[in-house]
Amino acid sequence: MSKYDNLLTFEEWEKLCDCCGMCCMFKVLDDETEEVLATSLACPLLNTATGKCRSYADRGEKNPFCTFITPENLDELAENMPYHCGYRCVAEGRKLPKWHPVNRDNSVEARTIRKKLEPICTRECGEAVSFADVADFVAGCTVSETLEPDDDMLEEHIIEI
Ligand code: SF4
Ligand code: SF4
Repeated sequence: MSKYDNLLTFEEWEKLCDCCGMCCMFKVLDDETEEVLATSLACPLLNTATGKCRSYADRGEKNPFCTFITPENLDELAENMPYHCGYRCVAEGRKLPKWHPVNRDNSVEARTIRKKLEPICTRECGEAVSFADVADFVAGCTVSETLEPDDDMLEEHIIEI
């Protein structure tokens, strides 16, 4: 049982993603420090111009390595998500960034999500980047030719974020 079970419906949970595309960049594990390092090499299914997956609905079939963020695995994955990511914000008890689609939408669904997050997202977001910064970053990344790049290829694209 996860602490996020029953927090949001499946559709509401999906809305926590702002479609920045940053989690679609490959990561590489530093063997010595066991640190997960970011790279600027993107999954071949990522549209870097929009930050969106070209096969979101059937991404599990198109890319068996794609990780789905769920209430069950969020605590384990959160620290390796970008700081602004809605899922990481929820995991760390922070509010969503002001520019997040859920905060810029006045629909009943968005207002419901905001209400449901209020009790657990009590700290300020502390957002360091704007969505435009993120979009520029994603647009400038390299798209991989393979779903499973080897470590040598990944090491060439290690970046600091
Ligand atoms: S990093 Fe977070 S907000 Fe960005 S695409 Fe991944 S899940 Fe969505
Ligand atoms: S398959 Fe997964 S990792 Fe690749 S672009 Fe789509 S959501 Fe991102």
